Amino acid sequence: RPALVWLRRDLRLADQAAFAEAASAGPVIPVFVLDDETPKHRKMGGASRWWLHHSLASLDADLRKIGSRLVLRRGVAAEVLADLARETDAAAIHCLHHYEPWWRNAEKALKTALPEGCSLEKHHGNYLMPPGSVTTGSGQPYKIYTPFWRALAQHMPPAKPLPAPKALDAPKAWPDSDDLADWKLLPTKPDWATGFASEWTPGEAGAADRVDAFLAKAKHYEDRRNLPSIEGTSRLSPHLHFGEISPATVWHATIEAGGSVETFLKELVWRDYGQNVIAQYPDYGKANARDAFDDFPWRDPSDAQVKAEIEAWEQGRTGYPLVDAGMRQLWATGWMHNRVRMVAASFLIKHLLVDWRVGERWFWDTLVDADYGSNATNWQWTSGSGVDSNMFVRIMAPLTQSEKFDAAGYIREWVPELASLSDKEIHDPEAAGKFVKGYPKKIIGHKQARERALAAHATTKS
Ligand code: FAD
Repeated sequence: RPALVWLRRDLRLADQAAFAEAASAGPVIPVFVLDDETPKHRKMGGASRWWLHHSLASLDADLRKIGSRLVLRRGVAAEVLADLARETDAAAIHCLHHYEPWWRNAEKALKTALPEGCSLEKHHGNYLMPPGSVTTGSGQPYKIYTPFWRALAQHMPPAKPLPAPKALDAPKAWPDSDDLADWKLLPTKPDWATGFASEWTPGEAGAADRVDAFLAKAKHYEDRRNLPSIEGTSRLSPHLHFGEISPATVWHATIEAGGSVETFLKELVWRDYGQNVIAQYPDYGKANARDAFDDFPWRDPSDAQVKAEIEAWEQGRTGYPLVDAGMRQLWATGWMHNRVRMVAASFLIKHLLVDWRVGERWFWDTLVDADYGSNATNWQWTSGSGVDSNMFVRIMAPLTQSEKFDAAGYIREWVPELASLSDKEIHDPEAAGKFVKGYPKKIIGHKQARERALAAHATTKS
């Protein structure tokens, strides 16, 4: 009897325990279910769908090289998989653990829907440690990043990555598969993703190339990671999000490359931290962790003025060059530099006084690495509403940040209308007396925004 391998955000062959286990028992049927319907499921955003399309095509091509293929189905995952298990007389469904609340719901539902004689076998491998497994002395999962990192580091290095299977036994007959093109995951009119293809190569081979490219310059990571004008970070986030490479593989490759890599590994652990948080707080993407923030006097996003300001933020037309460069990079490539994400998020929340959830949703739709755990923990960190967070009253100054992190080159690339300004002028054209045709004036002055934010905060217990 065959086994199904249920793929989600683990679109790889190497270090993929579900494949390894299923392959050792007999024929394997790899299956991906496009699920927009499981109750409380958060539909994948547009940029993620673009990535998913290419990643699935790449995985199918890789599977065909080893005698297998990818079966595509669409619908409520638990129902679709239970039907497929019946249709193929599968002995088991193997998958990796996922921690988004909708996937946990789907796994529960699947367990009860499975035909007799078919079991659900869940394996670890998408995180350095299974979320929830690193606990305090009293056995509680951590809420704060730093002690979490210290405790997790005690369990490192992770187990050596499993090799990719060299061949997979095919079933006697392949079940029908949807045609990937029929899923219409790619944008058509307008095709806003034209810039994505030159930036990214989704799939396992693309992920491996990114790791190699990064390792060649990993020794500079600590010095360069905050400088948006330089490609100083790994840009592995979408590959890690879609599971095209395992974090254990990244960990071992980084250690083997040598040098001072702790800062990078610490960043990698933020990814584990985000899952550790959503495993404890499934609603973290939509509810403040600190109740006091429930009464925060955010401006009303349905008000015409506020709506226009949110749109200006989305389109990179706030009059703050660093924020605008970041938001335009996001739209054009589906990715934004981490330092600039922090500045842009803080700007929406504190300068425009808009609830973090509005920004979280925009990022969800536009990031190729949109990840429920990482996105929510970072937005709640910025707003001050999270279990581990910056204080609301710490308001980032976008103009100072722009100078401090030497963003002139970055701004020139993404806000070309400012390209002729000098390194000194470009951070704040208005203050330099440069009114550039087509570039907006500041949507709100920094001082005024800061005072308004602090006054709003003072009315709450947050
Ligand atoms: P590197 O610096 O090379 O780091 C290596 C890996 O570590 C990353 O690929 C990522 O998997 C992980 N990592 C690094 N920093 C963080 C972090 N702060 N939180 C979680 N993981 C981290 N990251 C996402 O993967 N998905 C998101 O949806 C997301 N939303 C964010 C929203 C906001 C408001 C902010 C401030 C940050 C967000 N991040 C998110 C975190 C971070 O910006 C990206 O992971 C990072 O920019 C990815 O680039 P990189 O791969 O070059 O990172």
